[in-house]
Amino acid sequence: MISSPHILIIGAGLIGLSTADRLMLRGAKVTLIEARSEAGKGTSYSNSGMIHPSQARPWAFKGSQEEADTAFKVVHDMAEKSKHILEEKITSLGLFQKKTISGCYKIYPNMDMARHAQGLYANDGIMSRVVMDVTATLGHVALHFEDDMWGNAHSYCTALAADLHERGATFIYDATNARMRQDDDGVTVGLAGHVFKADHVIICAGPQSGDVLAGLGLNLFIDKLRGFSVNFDRPNIELPPAPLMDATSHSAMTIFDDHIRFSGTVGQDSARPLLRRWYELAPDIMAALKPATEIWSGLRPMSKVGRPYIGPTSIKKLWVNTGHGHMGWTLSAGSADLMSRMIMDGETDERFAVVT
Ligand SMILES: Cc1cc2nc3c(=O)[nH]c(=O)nc-3n(C[C@H](O)[C@H](O)[C@H](O)COP(=O)(O)OP(=O)(O)OC[C@H]3O[C@@H](n4cnc5c(N)ncnc54)[C@H](O)[C@@H]3O)c2cc1C
Repeated sequence: MISSPHILIIGAGLIGLSTADRLMLRGAKVTLIEARSEAGKGTSYSNSGMIHPSQARPWAFKGSQEEADTAFKVVHDMAEKSKHILEEKITSLGLFQKKTISGCYKIYPNMDMARHAQGLYANDGIMSRVVMDVTATLGHVALHFEDDMWGNAHSYCTALAADLHERGATFIYDATNARMRQDDDGVTVGLAGHVFKADHVIICAGPQSGDVLAGLGLNLFIDKLRGFSVNFDRPNIELPPAPLMDATSHSAMTIFDDHIRFSGTVGQDSARPLLRRWYELAPDIMAALKPATEIWSGLRPMSKVGRPYIGPTSIKKLWVNTGHGHMGWTLSAGSADLMSRMIMDGETDERFAVVT
């Protein structure tokens, strides 16, 4: 094993940046190749911001109950570890210091449904409290997952990219036309007349990972599940102290330092149903908002197995860390840590096998 290998990472979103971070901590040299002109501008740009191991059950999942149960255990286990690594990294970057309350809330249509959901979560070993509070849950019945956290994923990406740059990582932006080729000794990446050769290449291209691998003849299924996000300046009224999820619409309201964000939904063509839903749930807040500052949509990279793919491919020295679906912010540090142990220490973990 080379003690200080050079590693090329394709994609500088939450997963690529976190992978670079953990690899560099273990002594690797890293080059990140990113199609956009900045880090963290893909799916990681405007997500709901929750670091929520409590939500590790796969959703929009087409497999059996047994497969969903297996995926849940694997993802939840990693999410718990990931949260701790992430917490340390967030602190070391000096981010998100102002919080006064921990956890995230999830709204249910009525008490019976909340209690039923609480029982299902308890069967999974996830503890929650039923809460109904005028400020915290806007008067709705909700479950409070006290161990969850939140923070702006894009701010984290920006700070982490700067930190990596300072520590010696190389970033190549606007790399819209990177061409990958397999040779006898792994994979090379051709870009603007230059051929990059490294000891290992890792694909962290989020929803585009399947397309990147298809260019090398590998068939990795990544579904692209669109979600929306609408941002507003923070209004000058009392706001819930922690994110509120809505169980009915797979969406959330998250309050960041200077803005408020409504985000999520599945299977919609626009942000209108998302906003309509939050007009029902939070009419006073919606009435206090000025026009939206940004409307965005992003593609969740969903694997078909309900958990990410982390590990080697059938091509020598080509690795994958992708398919984190609705859990990418939560899992970012943990899956990066596993990837770094695989490459640097030769560790294996079949629970995350890459299924091509
Ligand atoms: C609406 C919404 C809400 C969400 N809320 C949460 C949440 O609250 N908590 C949570 O844990 N997760 C959440 N997620 C999921 C999370 O945001 C994603 O799982 C995560 O951002 C995926 O990160 P990534 O690095 O894999 O992908 P990306 O952020 O998309 O990064 C991939 C990068 O690869 C680059 N790239 C692609 N192809 C190439 C190429 N050929 N060459 C070079 N570069 C390339 C892209 O430009 C991009 O920057 C949410 C997602 C959405 C859409």
